[in-house]
Amino acid sequence: MTVNVLFAADPDNWPVYRRALQNAFARAGIAADLRDDFQQPETVDYIIYDPKSALRDFTPYTNLKAVLSLWAGVESFQHNPTLNVPLARMVDSGLREGMSDWVLGHVLRHHLGMDKHIHGQDGVWRWKESPPLARDRTVGILGLGMLGLAVARNLSAIGFNVCGWSRAPKTVAGLDCHAGNEGLRRVLAQSEILVLLLPATTATENIVNDESLAALPRGAVILNPGRGTLIDDAALIAALDRGHIAHATLDVFRTEPLPATHAYWAHPQVTVTPHIAADTRPESAAGTIAENIRRGQADEPFLYLVDREHGY
Ligand code: NAP
Repeated sequence: MTVNVLFAADPDNWPVYRRALQNAFARAGIAADLRDDFQQPETVDYIIYDPKSALRDFTPYTNLKAVLSLWAGVESFQHNPTLNVPLARMVDSGLREGMSDWVLGHVLRHHLGMDKHIHGQDGVWRWKESPPLARDRTVGILGLGMLGLAVARNLSAIGFNVCGWSRAPKTVAGLDCHAGNEGLRRVLAQSEILVLLLPATTATENIVNDESLAALPRGAVILNPGRGTLIDDAALIAALDRGHIAHATLDVFRTEPLPATHAYWAHPQVTVTPHIAADTRPESAAGTIAENIRRGQADEPFLYLVDREHGY
């Protein structure tokens, strides 16, 4: 039986996704009619979605089996009251690899003190200032999900001392895992570099605030490739200004694009990157989508369903 699949995502991505999805459907043995428009919405079985599409009202899609997000973070549309079918978020090897690379690069920048040498070519031979070894540096990761765990394993394989925090307690070989309020305090207390990989939910909003910043060691560095809402911006700027936090490298913001007048752009201890830490890659993402459609057609449980109660 042919399944009708609507691509309702960034129109610029349609040509490349059309090819990748058709290949993935063929590999999975799925006979699909894949289009970026269906005149009869009641015939659509699955919607591949990101909010760069104009689609906001899912009501006309009366026979929809699932919405399959191209994005890992679904906070901007998961509470759409017309979206009443299962919603799967994107889990993609491309996202994992991209995020692992971005975090590793920025961890190494701060761990090795690279700025000092890149910007300090002043003729002075400072030979006594060698950086510590990775094993002498603790990196804390808030969020041990698909991305946080990939990042943690990558850093751990290089030798960093890695601790992490999640909602439910976890046991992961080689990682010092924590949960709950006391667990958060333990992670913060030892994190010389803190990486934020939590989703944007009501429970995680402003988790980086005056109190949690004060709990970090003096001179700590913050990397945020998670979501802008995780940080109380005024509290972070104050902690940077008084020297308690040495630097913040931020990829995500409450308002994106980050307005040109925002204090972060001009702050000497802040590095802004324009939400490029990890992108969904069509070739690998198409495999995730095809597998979920195969499951839907075989009455098997969907993968990576969003837990609407917890918001991620
Ligand atoms: P995920 O698999 O859903 O993992 C989320 C992690 O956060 C889980 O470990 C979860 O705990 C933990 N968590 C959630 N709420 C918590 C709470 N209240 N207290 C403690 N821990 C909590 O998500 P992911 O795929 O790793 O992605 C993480 C985030 O990265 C996304 O939500 C998105 O916002 C962001 N992202 C950014 C980019 C970029 O380019 N900058 C790209 C992709 C994604 P449990 O393990 O106990 O459930």
